[in-house]
Amino acid sequence: MTAQRHIPSVDSLLKQPAVSELVNLYGHVWTVEAIRQVLDQLRSSPELCQSLTTDSIIVTLRQKLESQASFSIKPVINATGVLLHTNLGRAPLSEAGFEAIGNLVGAYSNLEFDLSKGSRGNRSIHATQMLKQLLGVESALVVNNNAGAVLLILSALVKGKKVAISRSQLIEIGGGFRIPEVMRQSGAKLYEVGATNRTHLSDYAAALDDGAQMILLAHPSNFKISGFTAQPELHELIDLARQYQVPLVYDLGSGALLDTSAYGIAREPTVQEILAAGADLVCFSGDKLLGGPQSGIIVGRQTLIARLNRHPLYRALRPDKLILITLSAVLLSYLRGKADSEIPLYQMLSRSLDELKQTAQEVLRQLGQGELQEGQSTIGGGSLPEESLPTWLVAFSTPLPEKLCKSLREQQPPVIARIQKDQVVCDLRTIRPKDLPVFTKSLEKALIAIKEKHEK
Ligand SMILES: *Cc1c(COP(=O)(O)O)cnc(C)c1O
Repeated sequence: MTAQRHIPSVDSLLKQPAVSELVNLYGHVWTVEAIRQVLDQLRSSPELCQSLTTDSIIVTLRQKLESQASFSIKPVINATGVLLHTNLGRAPLSEAGFEAIGNLVGAYSNLEFDLSKGSRGNRSIHATQMLKQLLGVESALVVNNNAGAVLLILSALVKGKKVAISRSQLIEIGGGFRIPEVMRQSGAKLYEVGATNRTHLSDYAAALDDGAQMILLAHPSNFKISGFTAQPELHELIDLARQYQVPLVYDLGSGALLDTSAYGIAREPTVQEILAAGADLVCFSGDKLLGGPQSGIIVGRQTLIARLNRHPLYRALRPDKLILITLSAVLLSYLRGKADSEIPLYQMLSRSLDELKQTAQEVLRQLGQGELQEGQSTIGGGSLPEESLPTWLVAFSTPLPEKLCKSLREQQPPVIARIQKDQVVCDLRTIRPKDLPVFTKSLEKALIAIKEKHEK
């Protein structure tokens, strides 16, 4: 109890010049609240009061306010080797993307203003123009994400009607997206055709004979069915849809515009080839293999897109200006034929093994510990599930690998590594070259921190 008598009052702290500075920065109300929290902490743990000084209280107070005022969302270094890590924000944005946001955030814009007419415009035209040019489609619409795109398409076009979909495509994507559940939300009626492993053209024809008003195809982007399997060819399904005058909609998920096989991984169907085959609408994510911001992109027939654009749900799903501007910047890279050199996802896919090995060796040389190992980077983000790319890792043996990972996460910026065979490994492929110095420094600090803990 004696030590508690030394705990100063809120008022006496507020009279300190150093605390006045904090009041200037964070405001009176917030600072007083933080002072109360610090003093409460001291009262509840008398051992903290032993070496108590006003200065040490102010240091604690400043740290508390700084931490409360920092954004809880912050940059991290992705050393996992998962290129589209859903928990780490999927595709990182290109330089062009964030320059574009930088120019826009503080300013008004012609988001919904037609500069030539001087009257109300339409926000959807910005990315639409570029998508039309890039893909040669009649029309396009951008929404918040691809789950929203599927929901909007079904709600606007087939509410209360039957939709034919193969049993092999009743997929679940991480984060609670399941085709049957989205369909139920939209009010469309699921008409399952075929068997889990085999679906035939005649199965679809039977559904259309029975009144199905749409053929929906969902690309199984995060799993593979192999063995005794069958699916009709896309062109056969498109002919069938034409014959019955119903739209064929393809939820492509990952949405590659470039041929992924050029990067040493399996070939994903491209948006261009599905459109060329004659699909009426194609939808895909903006932040998977396109390498852009979170968004859902719908491309295809003008008459169908116009119905989506008019539907009340579009108002709830429309993207904000920051998304539209960053997406435009990414699409511009594709239009200029510079996607592979400007978009981080493709830069990472293109990194050579030699360069990765040299980089890993340099990190190890600076640390004076750890070992070089061959490893595999993966695509992630629910794309290309069985695909991996050879890479080079730096690996660290420690009796407590979880502790080292935790210590890495506590660095500024946090480093996210993984544990493999009881070792902590960092994949160089997903670490931006410009982050290497801070990455190496953080590794060094984390290794020292756990060594100290271990020795204690
Ligand atoms: C990823 C994916 C979705 C969901 O896309 P989000 O942009 O994450 O909402 C829907 N359908 C398929 C086939 C997918 O792969």
